[in-house]
Amino acid sequence: MDSSETNRSFRITDAPDHDGDRFSRFKLINWWEQERLRKAKILVIGAGALGNEILKNLALLGVGNVFIADLDLIENSNLSRSVLFREKDNGLPKAEVAARSVQDLYPEMHVQWFRGDVIYDLGSGVFEWADVVICGLDNREARLSVNRNCWKTNTPWIDGAIEQLNGIVRVFVPPDGVCYECTMSEMDWQIIGARQACGGLARDEMLTGKTPTTPTSSSVIAGIQCQEAVKLLHGLEVLQNRAFVFNGLTHDSYVVHYQKKEDCLSHETYHLIRKMPRSVFTTKLKDLLAEVKAELGVEAVIEFNRYNFEIIEKFECTLCGRSETLFKPMAKTSESEIRCPHCEGSRIPKTFHSINGMESFLECTFSEIGIPPFDIVVARKGMNQVFLQFDADKTFVMGSLC
Ligand SMILES: [Zn+2]
Ligand SMILES: [Zn+2]
Repeated sequence: MDSSETNRSFRITDAPDHDGDRFSRFKLINWWEQERLRKAKILVIGAGALGNEILKNLALLGVGNVFIADLDLIENSNLSRSVLFREKDNGLPKAEVAARSVQDLYPEMHVQWFRGDVIYDLGSGVFEWADVVICGLDNREARLSVNRNCWKTNTPWIDGAIEQLNGIVRVFVPPDGVCYECTMSEMDWQIIGARQACGGLARDEMLTGKTPTTPTSSSVIAGIQCQEAVKLLHGLEVLQNRAFVFNGLTHDSYVVHYQKKEDCLSHETYHLIRKMPRSVFTTKLKDLLAEVKAELGVEAVIEFNRYNFEIIEKFECTLCGRSETLFKPMAKTSESEIRCPHCEGSRIPKTFHSINGMESFLECTFSEIGIPPFDIVVARKGMNQVFLQFDADKTFVMGSLC
């Protein structure tokens, strides 16, 4: 045996790491409290390229409670940017597979997944549940919807966006900070407008832009987003009212400051949300309305204060007089549906975004007119408002996170 081999065997047994705690390295950071992460409740919206990196980070950090929302199914082109997906997962919901993978990474994490449209199908109660919302979204409409839900429920949210090698991270903290809508430019509104036909209907042929992104840029941006979440959960200063902008070609980065817009329409915060033992699946409009009128007075109404929530009750044909009951959001109805299927005449949509008791459909349940489970509605008479959450839907929506 020569001396170098002896030395090597010494080295192997020299400094074994018998520390059984998987988070021991974090605890070397003097302000770190692992308990805050274990107890944290985080809503992750979008399980694509950014969402994968966000969720991977949350699992490694030991975050205890995560709700994952995404609409899409996994396809082959996702595999180059999604550490949580495998080839055998093609065709499965991104949210479901991501949930399974993060639990594999950190078995003590409680996870619930949801496949649906975050604008129309996700109840505001999920935002009320969360301590912080982290987004990996690719469109402005969904960001606006998240922003309003976060303001209503007083929940901070962390936005991330990537394109090619570049990216941006922003933290929005209600009720007093700059919100996402405050940061929107004329150009942003034009891009949203271009996706809609006249009257707020959806365009028949919408170009779904595929953003050029890489796993490296999503990893940089999701890293900053999760680091901001850790700081937020520890009460440290975050990128509130500012943006971190990263240029991946030069590796320059800088911080921009935003001004709050006083006339911004997204700054409504619900104080004291009342959790009702009611479900959208079984509560009829007339029953809750009767309760609300008994409390606030006969002129009280119920408002559905969701983003872009103009519901088409029915189409009425101007030519043959036939009508069709719909209960579908205007923005999810395409302009071709205006044509009458019987006589080709043009039809007029009859819409609503609140109910006052004069409607012909008061026997419907809240679910039947398009209100998602675990949502929050507003009972209003003049300046008097009561915020009502359908809390009996909590187990159905939140599952093991209850
Ligand atoms: Zn604003
Ligand atoms: Zn007709």
